[in-house]
Amino acid sequence: MRRLLVAGNWKMHGTRQSVDSLLKGLNQQDWPDNVDLMIAPPSLYIQHCLERLSGSPLYVGGQSCAYQAEPGALTGEISAAQLRDAGCEFVLVGHSERRSLFGETDEVVRKKFAAALACGLRPVLCVGETLEQRDAGRTAEVVGTQLKVILDAFGVGGLAQGVVAYEPVWAIGTGLTAEPDQAQDVHAMIRARLAMLDDEQAQLVQIVYGGSVKADNAEALFAMPDIDGGLVGGASLNADEFGAIARAA
Ligand code: PEP
Repeated sequence: MRRLLVAGNWKMHGTRQSVDSLLKGLNQQDWPDNVDLMIAPPSLYIQHCLERLSGSPLYVGGQSCAYQAEPGALTGEISAAQLRDAGCEFVLVGHSERRSLFGETDEVVRKKFAAALACGLRPVLCVGETLEQRDAGRTAEVVGTQLKVILDAFGVGGLAQGVVAYEPVWAIGTGLTAEPDQAQDVHAMIRARLAMLDDEQAQLVQIVYGGSVKADNAEALFAMPDIDGGLVGGASLNADEFGAIARAA
């Protein structure tokens, strides 16, 4: 039986004041104990979040990490080792905004995944197609290619040490959500692809859905057999809504 994961990606949002009030709200939530919970704040606020959330079931994660774990001359970057050292448990890798706005290739994503595993972080591998690719009937091919680079390097067992987040690019931050059946189809396709390589491990891989998850659509999405929770962007900036999403899982 897979545990569900509900994760919040705060992206580049927050000030000291708004982060404090969000943390206060998060600390007032009634968290379910059958769900893994995580927030990924801007790295500047990670330490503060860890301190304020101490004693809460929420894990803290990074939104990205450098492609190498070793210290080095990579101005502006934060390594997986530093995230782990700070107390993080997770790190997002290959978020579509990193891929499209910062030119992250599958090869860079592979290196980041490797760095995360090497440091004991659970990488959340984000995959998903654009609207153009979906309309062209290329969803399985695009998602398959994004997965293949990780599977070739780490196998299904390596992937199972992390999490897969299926995030159709057309549903991220747009208010458009994949219908539960539509998302389930892709999640089932991903799991079937993993099962062809290693059925036992494939059943253990957490595959979460991301793309305009909200309190009012979470329950239907999470009820799908291959949807193991959600990666939540905008709605994770509201503590009550994030709490409600977690309780829907
Ligand atoms: C995300 O950033 O991963 C995301 C899914 O964002 P949103 O929930 O705002 O669509």
